[in-house]
Amino acid sequence: MDPLLADAAARASRYLASLPARPVAPAPAAVAALTGFDEPLPAEPGAAADTLRRLDELGSPATAAMAGPRFFGFVIGGALPVSLAANWLAGAWDQNAALFKPTPSAAKIEAVALRWLTDLLGLPADAAGAFVTGATVANFCALAAARHSLLKRAGWAVEADGLFGAPPLTVIVGAEIHPSVTKSLGLLGLGRNRVVKVPVDAQGRMVAAALPEIKGPTVVCTQVGNVNTGACDPVAEICRRVQPAGAWVHVDGAFGLWAAAAPSRRPLVAGMEAADSWATDAHKWLNVPYDAGLAFVRDGDALRAAMAITAEYLPTQSEFRNPADTTPELSRRARGVEIWAALRTLGRAGVADLIERNCAQARRFAAVLAAGGAEILNDVALNQVLVAFSDADTTRRTIEAIQAEGTCWAGITVWQGRTAMRISVSNWATTEADVDRSADAMLRCWRAAATRPDASG
Ligand SMILES: *Cc1c(COP(=O)(O)O)cnc(C)c1O
Repeated sequence: MDPLLADAAARASRYLASLPARPVAPAPAAVAALTGFDEPLPAEPGAAADTLRRLDELGSPATAAMAGPRFFGFVIGGALPVSLAANWLAGAWDQNAALFKPTPSAAKIEAVALRWLTDLLGLPADAAGAFVTGATVANFCALAAARHSLLKRAGWAVEADGLFGAPPLTVIVGAEIHPSVTKSLGLLGLGRNRVVKVPVDAQGRMVAAALPEIKGPTVVCTQVGNVNTGACDPVAEICRRVQPAGAWVHVDGAFGLWAAAAPSRRPLVAGMEAADSWATDAHKWLNVPYDAGLAFVRDGDALRAAMAITAEYLPTQSEFRNPADTTPELSRRARGVEIWAALRTLGRAGVADLIERNCAQARRFAAVLAAGGAEILNDVALNQVLVAFSDADTTRRTIEAIQAEGTCWAGITVWQGRTAMRISVSNWATTEADVDRSADAMLRCWRAAATRPDASG
């Protein structure tokens, strides 16, 4: 096995070293060459080294440089070196990290990471946590706990008896709810459309004063870190308004929750610890490899009741924290390892610096682009920047030109009716020089797009 793993490590190192210099989007020729994978299933065993070579030679060039310093699309972090290294070692362990007994190391490391995370993010120290694949599943887990708790209080055992005939559960969301929360509501039988929508302000924040009166079992889905603007709902005020009437407040903080770890950004999420559940990602701002998301639930029994496989597993009877008692999966990888590795290596100050740095870089992007004549559509309070270049058509063509030019990558969005480019700064490796170089390229592409309107529209 040795030469094969050494070869993989060497190829991975070469790949990572190439990222700062190569075009961020894969070259069209590299994408076209993917047809090289279209071979018949081999009838006979082959050489492992040959398989690895093929993977690298065909696969690596057709990747986007998402792990590199100038990918600003969606909200995507790069893997910190230590988190990637820990991922490799944990991959070699190949543990089925469902239960403590057979995999004590994975379970212990996850429990420590959970303790550090609640501390770092200012959440209740005894909140239960689920280490899952991303914020989508984290939202699902937290809302499953909410469903359990609210219906239990209404005298209904939802896990046992399902939703047919259950007391109705009201779901209140902001008009800017992330589609992954909507999807989670659908998976939970609460309905993607069966929601009460609360209006939002110009930044996408829920208007707390517009919340309806709470009657009966109700969950209120809030958000910190709007995927376009980075804006945060006034969670503390929402909690004050709805919790006295018994509502469960959930916070989707896929990336915004990390504001709590950075002193200058913390006021944006002040008081969000009053909520009942929180979802976030680790593969976004903590910069660990895909896939890693986290759910935290104040009432751990509710989360375990929703997720544990049998009643015998239930909390107080369990001697150890079994990771799978809080997750939809039973068999699962030791996902907590790279989160632990990132936190241990960065420390509190390192996480704060990462968040502060990316936010400062977002402000720098906005300043340089505005100075170049572009229009910034949002208050850049976190790591998201919304940019319009002249009109919608020019903006669209400018984004296409930026993606093709290759210095950096940013995507398109529509914000409150306006076509815009969305820049998300979330990578540990991004420098100010990367921001300046990227902003220059963006303005250059805008000038080119503005002087060469395409005929196709
Ligand atoms: C990214 C994001 C999600 C979904 O996260 P995944 O990790 O892709 O599942 C949910 N909510 C918000 C606000 C996000 O930014």
